[in-house]
Amino acid sequence: MAGKRTHRYCGGKGWITLTSGAEATCQPCGGKGWTPVYTAAERAEMDAQRKRETKAAETCERRAREIATGSSRDGYVRVVQMGFWHLREHAPERFATMLRSLDAGRLDDVVKALHAYFIGQRDAGL
Ligand SMILES: [Zn+2]
Repeated sequence: MAGKRTHRYCGGKGWITLTSGAEATCQPCGGKGWTPVYTAAERAEMDAQRKRETKAAETCERRAREIATGSSRDGYVRVVQMGFWHLREHAPERFATMLRSLDAGRLDDVVKALHAYFIGQRDAGL
């Protein structure tokens, strides 16, 4: 992040006054009162990371479809997909480790681990 810019909408306060007169957290800036400013290089890096993640998700989905059999195939594929994005959202360090495992060619291990991970999350009530 190259810097911070005062959020125009809330004027940097992080909260806004609703038409009812009540005050509420400014959602676009998350109550911080500023938004991040990125350099072109940072934006390119974020874009590359997004593409890498999308490609990884597609690779996992394809392999999950090959591994799963019979009538439960769609469910298996869906659980692997949900595991992928849930891990990204809730366990970024494990997600990064998972991407490295994919790079190392451990696709089957990753797909099975994502499936087990999401089943575990679901059983724990998410
Ligand atoms: Zn704001």
